[in-house]
Amino acid sequence: MCGIAGVFNNPNASQYAFLQIYSLQHRGQESVGISSWDGERVRTVRRAGRVLESISREDLSQLSGNVAIAHVRYSTAGDSGATNAQPIVKETPLGEVAVVHNGNIINYVNLRTELEEKGVEFRYSSDTELFLALLESGEESVPEGVSIHPRDEGFLPKILYTLGRLKGAYSFLMMFGNRLVAGRDPYGFRPLSIGRKGKTILFASESCAFDILEAEFWREIAPGEVVVVDEAGIRSYYPFKGTRRAMCIFEFVYFSRPDSFIFGEWVYTVRKELGRQLAREDDVEADVVIPVPDSGVVPALGYAEERGLPFEMGLIRNHYVGRSFIEPTQELRNLRVLMKLSPNRAVLEGKRVIVIDDSLVRGTTSKRIVNMLKRAGVREIHMRIASPPVVGPCYYGIDTPTREELIANQMDLEEIGKFIGVDSLKYLSLEGLKRCVSDRENFCDACFSNEYPIDVNEVAIKRNR
Ligand code: AMP
Repeated sequence: MCGIAGVFNNPNASQYAFLQIYSLQHRGQESVGISSWDGERVRTVRRAGRVLESISREDLSQLSGNVAIAHVRYSTAGDSGATNAQPIVKETPLGEVAVVHNGNIINYVNLRTELEEKGVEFRYSSDTELFLALLESGEESVPEGVSIHPRDEGFLPKILYTLGRLKGAYSFLMMFGNRLVAGRDPYGFRPLSIGRKGKTILFASESCAFDILEAEFWREIAPGEVVVVDEAGIRSYYPFKGTRRAMCIFEFVYFSRPDSFIFGEWVYTVRKELGRQLAREDDVEADVVIPVPDSGVVPALGYAEERGLPFEMGLIRNHYVGRSFIEPTQELRNLRVLMKLSPNRAVLEGKRVIVIDDSLVRGTTSKRIVNMLKRAGVREIHMRIASPPVVGPCYYGIDTPTREELIANQMDLEEIGKFIGVDSLKYLSLEGLKRCVSDRENFCDACFSNEYPIDVNEVAIKRNR
C-alpha cells in the first residue's frame, strides 16, 4: 500500500513530486522519499513519517534537476520507518537507477534466494529491491513481436527481462539518466496514470496528484504497458499480452481518494453506488443515516439517498490526529479512537441510527465506535458495511491482517454483531459489489471471495515489511 509519483522536464521537479505525494498521503504514512536526477547523478532524501513534517525546504533545495520520482509508504506495525523507505537507488549496468514501487512481488523469496546464490547483495528487506537486483544481473529478453525503438535498445531489454521475472502486483517508476520508465503489471492490480502540464510529463498512482498541480489528467497506463519518457518524447510498449486483468476492487472500497479517477471510473461514483446497492439490499427501519468519517461518508450518502433517509454527521472527526504514541494497553487503546472521532449528541440522542462504514476487517474499530454511540444515547444501532466480509488476506499490495485475524473467519454474522454490540449488522453482498463496477470480470476481489487471480503458493512467508 503505497503511493508513487514522477515528474519529467520541469525545473521544479522535486517540488512538484513533493506536492504530488502530499496528495497521495492517504496511500502511506510510514515513510516518504524523493529522488531527482541532477544531470550527473541521483540525489535522494528518504525519511520516516509524513510528507509535510518530514521533508524540509533544505531537502528540496538539494534535490535539484528536471526529473524526479517520489514515494509514500504504508504504515505497518513494528517497522522502524525509514529502513525500507523508497526510492531505492543502486548502481546497475544502466548506471545509477532509482525505483519506486506500489504493489507486492509474490515470488520475492524465491527470486531473492536465486539472486543471492549468484552473488547479488541485498541491502533491504523490501521486494522493491528486486527491480534493481534483476537489472544488475545484466540479462536481457525481448518478448516476441515487440520491436524496440533505437533510443531504448541499450536499456529496455534489461528492464523487460526484469519485469518478466517478477510475479505479482506492481506499478513502478524508474529514473536513470535524463529519463523515466513507468509501468504496470499485466494484471493491472494497482493504478498508475500519466498527466501533463505544459511540456512537463507527470506520473501518479491517482489522478488527485495532477489536480494539486493544476495539471491535466492525460490517461491511465494500461495493464502490462511500459512507458519510456525522455527528451525525444514518449514511447509505449506492450510486452505482456494475454493475461486476464485483476484490478484491485478494494481501491474503490477504501483505499483511493474519492476525487480520483482510476481503473476507468471515478472513485466517488463507484463508492456512492456501493452505498446505493447496500440500501437496495436492506430494509431496516431507522431515523437517520450516519457515516464513520471519512471512509464511510460517500457510501452513506448513496445509502441515504437511495432509501430517502436523512444523512447526518453523527460522528465528528478530529483532523489533526497524527501518530499516537500512547501506550498499547487495552484501556488506552480504547481511548485512542476517541482522539480521532467524537459523538455528535445533537443528532444521536434517542435516535435509531444506521451507521455506514466502508469495510469491517478486524472489527475492533467498529466495536469502539458502537460503544461511543451508546454512551451518546442512541436508541438503536444498525451497522451497515459497504463491502462484503473480508475473508482473504491480500498478497497484491494491500496490508490486511492474517487469515486468522480477520473477524469474518472467526465468527458468523450474528456473532460479529454481538461482538461489536449492535442491534443488527449487514454487509453488502459480493454480487452487489461486483454490480457497482463497470466491468466485473476485470477486477480482483480475492479479499472478499478467496479467488486469487495469481497462485499464491509461492508466498512462502507473509512478507515482513
Ligand atoms: P477494523 O475492522 O477495526 O480492522 O477496522 C476497519 C476499518 O479500517 C475500515 O472501516 C476501514 O476504514 C479501515 N481499513 C480497511 N482496510 C484497511 C487497511 N488495509 N489498513 C488500514 N485501515 C483499513
